[in-house]
Amino acid sequence: SQPSSLTFQPVLERIATEIAQTPGRGRPADYIPALAACDPRRFGMAVAELDGTVYGVGDWRQPFSTQSITKVFTLALDLAREGDALWEHVGREPSGNPFNSLVQLEYENGIPRNPFINAGALVVTDRLQTRTGDAAGTLLEFLRAESGNERLAFDRDIAASETANGDRNAALAHFMASYGNIDNPVPVLLDQYFLQCSIAASCADLALATGFLARHGIRADGGRLLSRSQAKQINAIMLTCGTYDAAGDFAYRVGLPGKSGVGGGIIAVVPGRCTLCVWSPGLDDRGNSVAGVAALDRFTTLTGLSVF
Ligand code: GLN
Repeated sequence: SQPSSLTFQPVLERIATEIAQTPGRGRPADYIPALAACDPRRFGMAVAELDGTVYGVGDWRQPFSTQSITKVFTLALDLAREGDALWEHVGREPSGNPFNSLVQLEYENGIPRNPFINAGALVVTDRLQTRTGDAAGTLLEFLRAESGNERLAFDRDIAASETANGDRNAALAHFMASYGNIDNPVPVLLDQYFLQCSIAASCADLALATGFLARHGIRADGGRLLSRSQAKQINAIMLTCGTYDAAGDFAYRVGLPGKSGVGGGIIAVVPGRCTLCVWSPGLDDRGNSVAGVAALDRFTTLTGLSVF
C-alpha cells in the first residue's frame, strides 16, 4: 500500500493547506445547540482505498455528527432486503427543494421525490424498521463492521435535541402516514430516524464505511451487500440528489456521487478506485459544508479522478 500513500497523502496535505488559507467557512447548523457550538475552522479529510488503506489530514480522526450522511447507508440496507419494491414508496428524482421541504408531497400523493431528502429518508427508515425491528441498531452495526470501529455509537444528547426540535420531521412523517406511506407509528419512526442522524463518526470511519459503493456492492469482509447494479443505482442517486438543491452545482464542481449532512460531513465515491469523507462544520445556505465542497472540488481537479 505504500506506493498509493505517495499518491494520495501529498494531495490531501496540499488541499488542507489551501483550505486553511481560504476565508469564508459558512455557519454551523443552528437548529440544535450541539451543532451550533461546532467551530467552523475545523477541517478533516480522509481517502480510503478499496482494500481499506486510509489516508487523512487535519481532523480526520475526530468524530462528528453524521446526520444525513446516514441516509445512504439506510438506503443500501433496505434495498438489500426488499429490492425494487422500495421504489413504490419513494422516487428517484432530484427535488430542487431544500432537504426538509414539504411542498411536493401533496402533489405526489405522499411519495417523496428521493431517498435523500428528509421525507424520503423517513420512508426508507420506516421500511427498514418494519423489516428489522431495529433500523437504527441495524445501521450502527453495519457502520461498525464496515469501518472496523466498534466504538461508533449514537449520541443520545443530539438525538434528544433533535426530538425536542423535531416538529418539521414529525409533520413530514404524519403527512406521509395520511397517505398510507408510513408503516410504523410516527413516534417510533421519529425515534429511529433521530437516533440514525445522531451517530458520531470520523472521516476515517465514514470513508471506510462507504467502501462498498466503490467496490460495486462488496462489503469490507468480501461478502456482497448489493448487486453491482444496485450499487450503481445508489451512486447515481447520490450524484443527482445527495446535496439537495445544490446537486447540480456539486456535480459540476466535484463530479462524484456524494452525500452531505448538516453536521458538516460529506462522503463521496470514486467507483472502482476509492472513497472520501471530508468534514468542516460551516454550511452554505443549502446545508452543505462550504470547505467540504471546496476540498472535494480541489481533489477531483488535482487528481483527475471523477466519474466524468
Ligand atoms: N437531523 C437533520 C434533520 O432531519 C438531518 C438533516 C441533514 O443532515 N441535512 O433535519
